[in-house]
Amino acid sequence: MAAISLYEVSPRDGLQNEAGVVSTEAKAQLIAQLVGAGVTDIEVTSFVRPGWIPQLSDAVELVRVLPRVDGVRYWGLVPNQVGLERALEGGIRHVATFLSASETHNKKNVNRTVRESLAGIEEVIAVARDEGVSVRGYISTVFGCPYEGRVPFEQTLRIVERCLAAGAGTIALGDTTGMGDPRLVREVLTRLFAAGVSPDQVALHLHDTRGTALANALAGWEMGVRQFDGSVGGMGGCPYAPGASGNAASEDLVHTFHAMGVDTGVDLDRLAAAGCFAESLVGHELPGRYHLYWKGARSRSASARTA
Ligand code: MG
Repeated sequence: MAAISLYEVSPRDGLQNEAGVVSTEAKAQLIAQLVGAGVTDIEVTSFVRPGWIPQLSDAVELVRVLPRVDGVRYWGLVPNQVGLERALEGGIRHVATFLSASETHNKKNVNRTVRESLAGIEEVIAVARDEGVSVRGYISTVFGCPYEGRVPFEQTLRIVERCLAAGAGTIALGDTTGMGDPRLVREVLTRLFAAGVSPDQVALHLHDTRGTALANALAGWEMGVRQFDGSVGGMGGCPYAPGASGNAASEDLVHTFHAMGVDTGVDLDRLAAAGCFAESLVGHELPGRYHLYWKGARSRSASARTA
């Protein structure tokens, strides 16, 4: 088994934050390339109300055409009970739910208080668990909220404890707008683990908005976290702010872990090729550092061959 696992979010979190709409066939090709690179956990789509997120309105059709591969888990994001039902009907066996640690962000994102969201999510988790479906709970704004600033740790802990008690297998701590720093990551994890949460119940969903994603991932790894969310090429920046980077780039994570001798189970070249394919789908350059390096090295070697 790989020492760390990459949870790939590009088909959902990446494409959701891109301006254009990608065809179902192209999404399936991207997912097949990720599987071919050895990625075993892929968040493929979101089962929100059809039409709410046009980029992901083909959730049911997409899941239907995905290749079934042993050991590969396709995850669907579900905002509520209706979304869970659609996901289950579509054949999804791994679901992710979400809410924010801060009131203002949660209110703006889903128009509910944290308390209301938590109650809804506990029901979703309970039903999923009864169906034998595994659940990951995303908590946004753990390391800072764009509206409220620092988020008290107690708010995160309360949500983590309730999601785990309800039956979630993994809690993904989200640095939603890249406000975290390595010291804060260590502090949050130290306090979570002191409260009885196990490192293998935690994933880190980091954003590179301010260039801290890799440093934060390393801090998490040193604390014992072994699952990291990434998006090939760093896809998923804000579509209206060119160059603004969002999700941690998968290639950057995998390259860094490999350089440290930490196995990820992923073929970095094939992952980078998937990143280039993803770039061709969104129609603009993706910001991932290893992605840009790999593309440059490939074009230099191609021109050396033709010279
Ligand atoms: Mg994200």
